[in-house]
Amino acid sequence: MADILLVDSHCHLDFHHFDDDRDAVLARFTEAGGQWLVAVAVDVEHLPRLLTLAEEREHVFFSVGVHPNHEPEAEPSVGRICELAAHPKCVAIGETGMDFFRHRVPLKVQEERFRTHIRAAKKLGKPVIVHMREADEATLRVLKEEGANNGIMHCFSSGWETASQALDLGMSVSFSGNVTFKKNDELREVVKKVPEGRLLIETDAPYLAPVPRRGRRNEPAFVLHVAECIAQTRGIPLETVAEFTTENATRRFGVCIK
Ligand SMILES: [Zn+2]
Ligand SMILES: [Zn+2]
Repeated sequence: MADILLVDSHCHLDFHHFDDDRDAVLARFTEAGGQWLVAVAVDVEHLPRLLTLAEEREHVFFSVGVHPNHEPEAEPSVGRICELAAHPKCVAIGETGMDFFRHRVPLKVQEERFRTHIRAAKKLGKPVIVHMREADEATLRVLKEEGANNGIMHCFSSGWETASQALDLGMSVSFSGNVTFKKNDELREVVKKVPEGRLLIETDAPYLAPVPRRGRRNEPAFVLHVAECIAQTRGIPLETVAEFTTENATRRFGVCIK
C-alpha cells in the first residue's frame, strides 16, 4: 500500500479516544498510505494538546477554532483566533459553522461565532473548515455575506444544490465515512459531480467509521476506505483518487512536506 499517498483532511487525533494507542493509530495511518493529517480543533481550552501533537510529529498539522456546538468560557474574537493561529503548523481556521441538528448553542450565537472565524481566516489567508448540519441555507448565506472564498465543507452530507453553491464560492467539498453507507446513494451522486480539483477526503475520526469498519472507533487509517469508495463511485483507479485528493489538500492547506 506504500505506493499511494493519502491525506486525512479532518480528524480529532487529540480526543481521549486515542489516549491509549495514539502512536499505533498513527503507525497504521502511515501503513495505509497516510502522508499527513489535520487534527481539527473544537475548542480553545484543549489547544495546547493539539499544539504538542503537531510539534512532536512532522506529519500532524492542526487548526484553531471553536465548534458551533461547543460552549466556551468566552466567545473568541477575531484577534484572539489570529493570535492562537500564529504557529507554522496551524493550517486552517475551524471547525466552525452552523449546526441546527443539536443546536445546544443558540443559533444567533453560532452565526456570530461563524462570522468571527471567517473574518479571522480571511485576515490570515488560511482556509476555513466549515461544519454544516441541517443548516444549508444559513451556512451558505453567512459564507456569501462574509465573502468567504477559501475553505472546506467538511463531512459533506447535503445534496448537489448545496454543493454547487459552495463550489461557486470557491470552497472545496470533503467527504467522510458516510459516503460508504449503503443508504447514501444521493451523497454518492454528489461525489460523482464534484470537480476533481475540489474534492477532499477525511475521517472525522473518532466518529463515523466507514464501511467495513462501521460501528467501531474511526481512525485516520480508515481514510483509505473513503478513498476506495470515491474511486468506485467515480469509476476510476484508487491511485488517481489518492493523487488528486492529496494534491488538493496540499494546495488548500498550503502544506509543505517532503
Ligand atoms: Zn464537524
Ligand atoms: Zn470534526
